[in-house]
Amino acid sequence: ARNNAIGRHHGAGRTKDGHPVALLANIGTAKDAEAAATQDVEGVGLFRTEVLFLGQQSAPTVEEQTAIYSRVFAAFGSRRVVVRTLDAGADKPLSFADLGAEDNPALGVRGLRMSQACPDLLDNQLAALAAAAKDTDAAVKVMAPMVATVDEARWFAQRVHEHGLPESGVMIEVPAAALRAETVLAQVEFGSLGTNDLAQYTMAADRTHSAFSDLLDPWQPAVLDVIAAASAGASSAGRPLGVCGESAGDPLMACVLAGLGVTSLSMAPAKLGLVRFALATHSLDTCAQMADAARSATSPAEALEAAAALADAGL
Ligand code: PEP
Ligand code: MG
Repeated sequence: ARNNAIGRHHGAGRTKDGHPVALLANIGTAKDAEAAATQDVEGVGLFRTEVLFLGQQSAPTVEEQTAIYSRVFAAFGSRRVVVRTLDAGADKPLSFADLGAEDNPALGVRGLRMSQACPDLLDNQLAALAAAAKDTDAAVKVMAPMVATVDEARWFAQRVHEHGLPESGVMIEVPAAALRAETVLAQVEFGSLGTNDLAQYTMAADRTHSAFSDLLDPWQPAVLDVIAAASAGASSAGRPLGVCGESAGDPLMACVLAGLGVTSLSMAPAKLGLVRFALATHSLDTCAQMADAARSATSPAEALEAAAALADAGL
C-alpha cells in the first residue's frame, strides 16, 4: 500500500538498458507535496514557491514560510526537494512589491530580476528555507528562475551559500543561459530547463497567447536545438541538468530529452507512470536516435512523427 507519508519508493526511472533518469514531481503547495510524496517518485524537481506569495497583502513572514517549507520537506523524508525561489513580477504581480507598469511584462522585472530589485524578499525566503532545512533529512536544493547571465548565477549562488544552504541551481529558461550553459552552470551545482519559458523566449511567442500553441510547441526543432546546446554545456561543466517544464510529462518527449542527455524529469504527478513506462521501453541509444531525428525535422509535427517512428509500438 502506498498510503504512508513517506511513500513507497520503487527506484529510479531508467531506460530499458538501465541508464538512470530521475523522475520528480512539480508542486506548488504543502498539500501538493503531501499528495505527491505518496507517489513512486524520487522527490520534487520544482516547488513553485510563488504560490505562497501571490494574492497576499504582504509577504509571508519568515516563520510562516519556515512552517510551510518544513511540511514539504517532512513529506519527502530523505528524498530531494528542489525549491524554486519566488518567480513573481510582471504578469504575476505582488501587491507588496509594486515595481510599476511595464510595456512588455514577460521581458520585464520578473524571476531573479525581482529578487535583485527586492533582495529582502529573497533573503527572508532563504532564511526560512535554511531554518526548515536544518530540521530535515531531505536533500534541499534551491534554484533561481529567469537567470540570463553568469553574473546573475554567481550572485544567486553566493546568496544561497551565505544562508548556509548547500546546493544552488538555476533554471535554464532564457536562451542566453542555455547557449552559455557551461559558464552559467559552473557557478552553481545544477540546472533545470524550464521548457515553457524557453519555448516562449526562443520562439518570441507569448506563452499566455493561446493562438501561439504551434509556435510554443516544445517539438519545435529550434527549441530542441537550444535544449541540446544547454545539455552539451552542462555536460562540459560537469553539472546535472534536468527538465521541469510541461514537456517533461510527455512520454515521447521524455525519451527525446533523455536522448539529449538530461538527467532528471520533473512533472505533474499524474504524468509519472506513463513517462516511467516510456523510458523503460527504450534504450538510451534509441532515445538519442529519436532526438537526432526530431532535430532533423523542419516542423513540430514532423519532429514528433520522426521520433514516434523510432518508438516501440504502443507509445
Ligand atoms: C518553465 O518555464 O518551463 C517552468 C517550469 O516554470 P514556470 O512554468 O513556472 O514558468
Ligand atoms: Mg518559467
